[in-house]
Amino acid sequence: MSGYRGRFAPTPSGPLHFGSLVAALASFLDARHAGGEWLLRIEDVDPPRCPPGTGDVIRHQLDAYGLTWDGPVITQSARDAPYQDALTRLAEQGLAYPCSCSRKEWRDHAIYPGWCRSGPLHPERPLAWRLRSDLGARPVSWHDRLFGEQRFDPAALGDVVLKRKEGLWSYQLAVVVDDAEQGISDVVRGADLLDNTPWQLQLQAALGHSQPRYLHLPLIVAANGQKLSKQNRAPALPVDGDAPRDHLRRALVALDQSPPRELAGAPVADQLAAAIAAWQPARLRRDARRQAADPA
Ligand code: GLU
Repeated sequence: MSGYRGRFAPTPSGPLHFGSLVAALASFLDARHAGGEWLLRIEDVDPPRCPPGTGDVIRHQLDAYGLTWDGPVITQSARDAPYQDALTRLAEQGLAYPCSCSRKEWRDHAIYPGWCRSGPLHPERPLAWRLRSDLGARPVSWHDRLFGEQRFDPAALGDVVLKRKEGLWSYQLAVVVDDAEQGISDVVRGADLLDNTPWQLQLQAALGHSQPRYLHLPLIVAANGQKLSKQNRAPALPVDGDAPRDHLRRALVALDQSPPRELAGAPVADQLAAAIAAWQPARLRRDARRQAADPA
């Protein structure tokens, strides 16, 4: 056993698109090249944003691209108890506090100004829970495998929400609890999450979890320079016919892996086997990548 355990953790707010394929593929190749495991976690902590059945669509898409995961799939919406337990432990340490403020009330500030730190200003309102980013470990630092040394003061980023006033768990808390519980050694994900990592490091330290290694990936952007995302209506990854073969090759190109010419159009299993053997994250360039034009 290599001791490597990676994961892909999509939010099922819509089907996977090309940008998600690139993130899934990089984390898959990194895990398999290391002889490690690769897990799938469905991050549906925000059910109103996640149409029912989308988790199944995502599994079907991953299957069509040969990205097979190990072990059971964790679904965050079914995991209230471990998140509540983590929040209780943070609150007991004075690192989480209830907050009654609405976004509108602090809209003139760049970050939430911490008005409820010594008690909610309006205890009768529904309460969210926030992290005391000023009292946790700071600064936090890590060596990002692509972006190099990173050092942040989480307090400058603000007291992030851990539980929303509607009772929904935040991504930051759930991802830290689940990465620890699943024994994730390596996080490989898009660079749009790089500036979320400081809060996650602070939460790991407060909860006594070890810090995984991080590799943040260059973002895939559309021709207009915008991040590919479901909000920007990035098209769903096709699963039929030869489309997965073509898209897989384009994803390997987007990851600077120079797939061999003779494998163009080859079955996904053959392309993946070669890509696992040849995986070199050192080839990644840090700049955002334009999505290649659709093949004619
Ligand atoms: N669920 C997050 C997303 O789909 C990714 C979380 C992560 O990889 O840490 O953007």
